[in-house]
Amino acid sequence: MAMPSKVKYLIIGAGIHGLSTAWHLAAKLEAQGKGGGKDILVVDKTAIGAGASGIACGVVRNNYFQPAMRELMAQCVEVWESDKEAFSYHPVGYMQISPEVMHKDVASIYEQQKAIGYSSDFIEGEADSMKYMKGLFDDWQARGITSVLHEKKGGYANNLKSIYGLAKKAEDLGVRIMTGVKVTGFELGHNTGAVAAVLTDKGRIECEQVVVGVGPWVSQIWNMLELPKAVDIKGRDGKLHKDVPMWRYWCLEEGTLGVDPGFLKTNDGKMPPVIHVDTDAPLMSDVDGSLITDKLWGIYYKPDFNFGGIQGGAMPYVVETPVDKVAIDPYGPESPDFIVGDDFAHMWTSALAFCHKRFEGQGIHWKKEPSGGLGCFTPDSFPVFDTFRQNVHVIADSNHGYKMIGVGKLVADEVLGQKSRLLEPFRLSRYAEGKLHPVSNSPFPWS
Ligand SMILES: Cc1cc2nc3c(=O)[nH]c(=O)nc-3n(C[C@H](O)[C@H](O)[C@H](O)COP(=O)(O)OP(=O)(O)OC[C@H]3O[C@@H](n4cnc5c(N)ncnc54)[C@H](O)[C@@H]3O)c2cc1C
Repeated sequence: MAMPSKVKYLIIGAGIHGLSTAWHLAAKLEAQGKGGGKDILVVDKTAIGAGASGIACGVVRNNYFQPAMRELMAQCVEVWESDKEAFSYHPVGYMQISPEVMHKDVASIYEQQKAIGYSSDFIEGEADSMKYMKGLFDDWQARGITSVLHEKKGGYANNLKSIYGLAKKAEDLGVRIMTGVKVTGFELGHNTGAVAAVLTDKGRIECEQVVVGVGPWVSQIWNMLELPKAVDIKGRDGKLHKDVPMWRYWCLEEGTLGVDPGFLKTNDGKMPPVIHVDTDAPLMSDVDGSLITDKLWGIYYKPDFNFGGIQGGAMPYVVETPVDKVAIDPYGPESPDFIVGDDFAHMWTSALAFCHKRFEGQGIHWKKEPSGGLGCFTPDSFPVFDTFRQNVHVIADSNHGYKMIGVGKLVADEVLGQKSRLLEPFRLSRYAEGKLHPVSNSPFPWS
């Protein structure tokens, strides 16, 4: 395909957000008689699904303590449900299993799920939580649990398959996707200050509107757009916190226990919901009984044929290297720096055994293959969805975003001039204005 020198809409990144935006924008242009997919070009420096979307665990849930996140996730789940087959989506549900320190937070999530009509059950108290879990898995044995939120919707999707499904939907509407094209800079209009052209290693492309969906590489594109490397934040304490770095990297730790996925069926022989357990009960080694941690910890897991076993992860860790020096490439399993090691495998398989008797002694089946990857987080670890330089729509999901397949639909509206109420709580200005999202007691930066 020849490289165009001009296009109306240029989308950078062929991950979940770039492709969802391309698909929805093409459909909206066509429906409004304003053009169609032929007006849209998606460029990616590597390949479709080469970023975080292609390696994501794939969990889709509503369970968020922040009302704005929950409302947005409900919209996203609707998009997942709109074509389960194309998105390789498994609506098995999702469970948040929590200790007392999180009880109140999760109770409020349940109340608000009821208010927005998102179907879930909430079980409270240690004895009832144990009974409920044993009703699902007769070998359940996790301690320190005093509530269970069981979301009936959500589940997980197969990462690359869903991204290819999205790409097909966009291409079927005439969208062009060019891979092996790396964006290297932006050319601003002399009088307007808006982006007039995007510079790539394959040439210059004039465009009217730009959408940025580059996942963990967002700090690089942010620098190219000469946006602020630090922001002032009006904190919950009422004080102004000056010069807080705009980006920081966390490394996500995930992996797979190479047993038959059917190993984790429920008592009635069905595939289980995605399970997320947080607890403050001490975690002991399943190998030698030593203490792994006595602090609040959490894991998530699901049987997954795509990964070939029981796949999941635990809390990520902060990357201390200065943001501009973090080696994002090679990304994911190819990275020499940001893949999981033996400590993670030991912790996570011991945690599985803490939850279910069936996993005791199964750590030997840990798949010794590179897994995990970087995520680029904002100052408060919540997304920034905003327009910069007048015509550049940045989708910086702060690593929440595989599940956020619906954001592209809302961004497509914004590209066409219609502001989205659901995206409003995620503008950059929230930092200066002190309109921050509430913070939960979860050990994860994305809950
Ligand atoms: C290990 C792991 C597990 C995760 N699990 C989940 C999960 O279970 N559920 C969930 O909701 N989220 C999960 N996430 C987060 C989620 O994967 C990301 O938030 C989301 O996929 C980001 O999507 P994206 O479209 O913004 O970027 P990406 O999918 O990263 O795509 C960005 C694309 O941009 C391209 N690109 C970058 N720079 C340039 C450039 N200069 N020029 C051209 N192209 C460029 C890249 O090649 C890449 O293909 C996980 C993340 C990781 C790392």
